[in-house]
Amino acid sequence: MSVVIKGADVAAAVKKELQEETQKLALHGIVPGLGIVRVGAKPDDLAYERSAVKKLGEIGIRCQVFELSENISQQDFFNEFEKINTNPDIHGILLFRPLPRHLDEETVKNMINPLKDVDCMSPVNIAKIFSGDDTGFSPCTPEAVMEILDRSGIDLQGKRTVVIGRSMVVGKPLSMLLLKKNATVTICHTKTKDLAKTCADAEVLIAAAGKAKMVTADFVTEKSIVIDVGINVDENGKLCGDVDFESVSLKAAYITPVPGGVGTVTSWVLARHVVRASRYLNKVDK
Ligand code: NAD
Repeated sequence: MSVVIKGADVAAAVKKELQEETQKLALHGIVPGLGIVRVGAKPDDLAYERSAVKKLGEIGIRCQVFELSENISQQDFFNEFEKINTNPDIHGILLFRPLPRHLDEETVKNMINPLKDVDCMSPVNIAKIFSGDDTGFSPCTPEAVMEILDRSGIDLQGKRTVVIGRSMVVGKPLSMLLLKKNATVTICHTKTKDLAKTCADAEVLIAAAGKAKMVTADFVTEKSIVIDVGINVDENGKLCGDVDFESVSLKAAYITPVPGGVGTVTSWVLARHVVRASRYLNKVDK
């Protein structure tokens, strides 16, 4: 039977630290500001936005939502984005992606001030992760995984660690963060042979494939630490991860649930990035 690692416990610890930091920043007259840029009104984006505005507001981060029309022209979009990019009250920018097809995402990635790039779109921040330089911003989800491992006292040094998934949003940057902690990292993907066997050989298994309940009990041993990044909907319309929690939690040593695992920590990582960005931009030390 697994120990269930609860995202809420990790989130509460990060929140407490950030609250102290925002109070210190207030003494310098600084209110960390996040600009949320949304083109159109997708239900998923709106749900994330509502939750982020509420959570970040609780620790004194001011969120400003910039809602742009789905039909905005490319030039108008770039003009609006540049205004936000240079607005001194906005320290971090979260842009909902993918953008509508007529808007060029690559240009925006290169436009964003890397110091405000709290969700890691800029090639500057991506390059920093791949070169092991931790002065930039990592994408929030991979960092949430690292936070969970760290706060659960799991030392990654030398550990056989398997990541299922090689996207630029989760799998690849996460693998680099694990490598920086001296884990021995294997990246699996759709062309991996003997996936279950490779995963069962891992001490730490991280699933980020986006395939509901694909990790079954034969992917783990009694010693496995299983972190589930997936967010899917199962055959009954219920939220579930990439891991079949029911069977895997009877066998593995540790497991994160979905919901209530990695996703719970992600917005607090975003909050931490905004606080850090506000310190950088105002040249205030911790
Ligand atoms: P993606 O579709 O871009 O990438 C999925 C990766 O998994 C690919 O590299 C693919 O090769 C691999 N893959 C897919 N099916 C596989 C299979 N059957 N066997 C082996 N490898 C397989 O997805 P993504 O953006 O990286 O997201 C992955 C999952 O994480 C999704 O469920 C997504 O919803 C979730 N996610 C969660 C959070 C969070 O806050 N918890 C944030 C972002 C993404």
